[in-house]
Formats: sequence, C-alpha cells, structure tokens
Amino acid sequence: MSLQSQNYDIIIIGAGPGGSTAAYLLARNNFKVLLVDKEFFPRYKLCGGLLSLKTLQLIKKIYNESPEDLIKNKIIDYYTPFYEITYKNKRVISKNKGTLNLFLVDRTIYDNYLLSKAKNLGVEVLEGIKIEKIDIDNCKIELHHGKVIESRLLIGADGANSIVRREFIRKKIIRNKDWQFNLGTGLECFVNRRDLKKDQYEKLILTLGFANYGYNWLFPNKDKIILGVGALNRKNKGKFVRALKNFISSLNINTEKISPIIAHPVPYGNFSIKCVYKNKTILIGDAAGIVDPLWGEGIYYAQKTAEFAVLTIIKHFEDESVPLTHYETLLRKSIYSEFKSTLKKRWLLYNKLNVLLKYYPVQIFLLIYRKILSFLIHRSGSLRELLKKQHLLVSISPNDYAS
Ligand SMILES: Cc1cc2nc3c(=O)[nH]c(=O)nc-3n(C[C@H](O)[C@H](O)[C@H](O)COP(=O)(O)OP(=O)(O)OC[C@H]3O[C@@H](n4cnc5c(N)ncnc54)[C@H](O)[C@@H]3O)c2cc1C
Repeated sequence: MSLQSQNYDIIIIGAGPGGSTAAYLLARNNFKVLLVDKEFFPRYKLCGGLLSLKTLQLIKKIYNESPEDLIKNKIIDYYTPFYEITYKNKRVISKNKGTLNLFLVDRTIYDNYLLSKAKNLGVEVLEGIKIEKIDIDNCKIELHHGKVIESRLLIGADGANSIVRREFIRKKIIRNKDWQFNLGTGLECFVNRRDLKKDQYEKLILTLGFANYGYNWLFPNKDKIILGVGALNRKNKGKFVRALKNFISSLNINTEKISPIIAHPVPYGNFSIKCVYKNKTILIGDAAGIVDPLWGEGIYYAQKTAEFAVLTIIKHFEDESVPLTHYETLLRKSIYSEFKSTLKKRWLLYNKLNVLLKYYPVQIFLLIYRKILSFLIHRSGSLRELLKKQHLLVSISPNDYAS
C-alpha cells in the first residue's frame, strides 16, 4: 500500500453508501480526499437492499442516473409494485396491482457502484485497511503498521460499529447509555430461488407480530429471497432468532433450505444522541445513528447525511467562521423533526396496538387491528404514501454543491 500524498483535506473512514457519497461530492468540489475501508471491494454487506423512492431521487440528483439507468446497468437487482403487510400470517394490507415500483439492490453491487463513482473522480482509496486508532481532535488516523496520516477534517462513515463514534463515547461526547438505549439488531438469511417453486414469493412482505418493536421482511431478489427481522434490542432479549424462524415457518419455507443467519446492529432511533460532530470530526450515516426508527431504512440517510456534511464542509472551508454546527442545523431541520414524529408512530404501532391484541378475543382484535393498522398505515402513509411524502426531504437544490 502506498499513499499518493500526505496532504489531504478530508479523510473518510468507511466506504459504505455514506462514505462513498461524501467522497464523490467532495472530489467534485476539488477537495483532496482519502477514503479508507477495512474491506476489499466489492465486499458483502448484510442488508435487505430496499431502496426507497427518495433514495432514487437522491441518486438522480447527485449522479444524474435514473432508475432505468440503474436497471440497465444491473445495479438494481429486482423491482416489483406488489407488497403485502401482514400480522403474523394474517394479511392486513395487500397491493396486487400498481405502477409504483419498490426497488431492491444487492449491496455488494450497489456499494461497489458508489465507490467506483468516487474513484472515477480521483478519490484516493485504501482498501483492506482497518483503522484502529484515531485522534478526533487533530484529525489523525493510524494505519495498522503505525503510519499516521492527518487531514484538515475527518468524516466517520464507518457504520453501526463505528470506531470514530466509539472515540466520541470514550471522550464522553456521547454517552454509551444513550447509544445503547435505542440500538436494534437486524438478522437475515436467504433462500435460493432454485429451492423454491417457480414464481413463488415475487412480492415484498412486511410482517408484524413476531418481534417486539420491529418487524420481519421477505424481500424478493432475482436469484434468491431475503428473509429478515429487525427490532429494538431492549424489547427482544434473546428472541431474535426465534422471531426470524417463526416468520420463516409461517411462510411454509423449508428451514433446511435457508442460508446461515447473520446479525448486525441497527441504530434504531439513535439519532437522539445528537452529538454528531466534534471539533473537526463529523459522523454520518449509521455511525451517527441516523436510520429511520420505524422501518430501519438507512441507505438513504447515509447518503443524505453525506450530502449535508459536504454542504457544511464546503461552507466551512470557504469561510472558517461558518461552524460545523451548520451540519446539525441541516439534520435538525429535515431529518430529526421527521424522526421524532416517526418515533411516535412506532410507539403507537408496536406498543399500543400490540397491547390491544393481548387483552381481547383474538378474532375481534384482529379485526380492530386490521382496521386501525390499515387506517394508520394509510394515514401516515402506506409504503407508497410514505415514499411520496418523503419527496419533501429533497429540499436542497443541486446548485448548492455544484462546483
Ligand atoms: C439486516 C439489515 C437489513 C437492512 N436493510 C435495509 C434496507 O433494506 N434498506 C435500507 O435503506 N437500509 C437497510 N439497512 C440499514 C443499512 O444497511 C445501513 O443503514 C447502511 O448500510 C448505512 O450506511 P453507512 O455508509 O452509514 O455504513 P455501512 O454501509 O455500514 O458502511 C460502513 C463501512 O465502513 C467500513 N468500516 C467499518 N469499520 C471500519 C474501520 N475500523 N476501518 C475502516 N473501515 C471500516 C465497513 O467495512 C463498511 O464498508 C439494513 C441493516 C441491516 C443490519
């Protein structure tokens, strides 16, 4: 491994969607960027790979590529307008016809696509290098053989197990207790389509009832179906694998055909830590705890927070008197306010409705549940409505970061 330079404006740790998007936007604005990741790309990342409409709009805005381009270039693996929301195996909402598609990507391909966009703009990338020591006050990172590199600014885009955020915790900028409080876990496995009947499981399924404060999913892909569960840790101690296996059994899928189950943390409401920068270090994406606290959507927020961080950095480097607090202002205005109301919906959906179900005869409950749930989802939005509403989030004009 040899470095082309010693003078970087910005070092980014982590080349997931957040890190690669930040690197791309910074390079487009002529910053000298070093992007470091512990893996060699293309690399595997545990994820359902569901891309919301607002993510596709963001991709169009940043990379000028439409869903059609992504399909043509095989970045999008599968799409379908059909979905079902169920309570255990009882159908609550089913959409069997429609024009608005739900798009699914394989993260090995998607993350490599975003990284190659950054590389094409001249971002220097160190792959296979795990950062274990950082100095967030002086923007320094230490590589495994002891070599120290510094920059004018550091971005922590290293995911839910972020070493940069751990440094924030070590320095008591973030309280570990606060971080743990809303932490969730996602578990996934898959079944190859060759082990299923032809045309089986072509729609996306979201299921409530097997996990507390969370849900199960079946995401169809071209060659496989992904089965998962994501929920809040403190409400599901030791119950995650059972919640996934019960879901799989409810679908009548042969458990002998499933791949090994893999788990990964999900910051499922951790945005409330609200300490996402210190001196010259900024946290983005999962590292900052910015994931939707109801659906667990994180790809969009990784890329959106990357955009916000870059807008802030551009302003800060143009005029040092603009502080990095600008980043927090952008987050507060569009993401935190949305998440606060999402937390209330989560409480209603996972707490109140589930309590109702415990105390009345099941048939009546299911009826009420179906009606209320259907009302709530339609009001706060069915998937379609939710995605539509979130158009509002795309509020910054491309000129804001065009060089
Ligand atoms: C089971 C599961 C299913 C999910 N499904 C969806 C979904 O369908 N749709 C959706 O929108 N979101 C989903 N998410 C959430 C989504 O995966 C994350 O929110 C998203 O990946 C965050 O992107 P990021 O760039 O912040 O971090 P990541 O994608 O986690 O990238 C972090 C990068 O940092 C690197 N790294 C970590 N530590 C170091 C280190 N010390 N040194 C160097 N490099 C390091 C890693 O190798 C990685 O490449 C899911 C999450 C889980 C767990």
